[in-house]
Amino acid sequence: MAHPLTQVVLTSLGMANPALRLPENIPGDFFVDSTCIDCDACRQIAPETFTDAGDASIVYREPLGERETKRALMALVACPTASIGTKEHHDAHIGIDAFPSQVAENIYFCGFTAESSFGAWSYLIVRPQSEGGNVLIDSPRFATQLAGKIELMGGVRTMFLTHRDDVADHRRFAERFNCERVMHATGDHLAWSPNRKTLTAFRGACWYSWAEQTRSMERLLDNYSEWNFEWILPGHGRIHHDSPAKMRAHLERCIEWMKTR
Ligand code: SF4
Repeated sequence: MAHPLTQVVLTSLGMANPALRLPENIPGDFFVDSTCIDCDACRQIAPETFTDAGDASIVYREPLGERETKRALMALVACPTASIGTKEHHDAHIGIDAFPSQVAENIYFCGFTAESSFGAWSYLIVRPQSEGGNVLIDSPRFATQLAGKIELMGGVRTMFLTHRDDVADHRRFAERFNCERVMHATGDHLAWSPNRKTLTAFRGACWYSWAEQTRSMERLLDNYSEWNFEWILPGHGRIHHDSPAKMRAHLERCIEWMKTR
């Protein structure tokens, strides 16, 4: 029987429905059900367990050992639609307590993605108050456990919403941390494409102006000596880390490609 606290936590997270288990999952403990919206989060978090099966993710291999099981439980917690479940009992805190999860230096992935933002990823940048305090980039799904962890990490001074359609539970986080909210007016989006192995943008999810978004990328390139970067940390699409020189080359390729769309 599950520990009462674990049951409470799992209830607040929501649970996948075994009756809706996708037949493409391998037989075993972890599974994905038919409510999956194919957001890619589980495949990024635990690629050794989850894979793409067309319009949904499935479990293609059971997690082995502590590390892989922890990553699979992190995917379960991060899933925006509670589409991941297990037959066996697991301590949900293993996945819950892993968030915010460090990506690099002072940058953390918040997990707890929201269905209303199609599983978009949000990040916490941890900075001393003297340097402006912590910044929450986009909003995760509100969860008391996550908010408590963020509180321990210094709270949120500013919430930066990168585009208007992925704002998730921004109001609840703003109320909890009494932070200033800043909305990016045009909503550019740049990500890593594992298929094309370069930077990409999403023509079908550009709500303002593709021409303006392309010009924005050109401005980034024009000012690259000042604004050079090593990391792409997108809401949708893949994270990528590379040298500033290689990122510049990828940015050039991306702009040329955007002009053909
Ligand atoms: S995280 Fe959830 S919704 Fe997203 S692809 Fe995985 S199972 Fe589907």
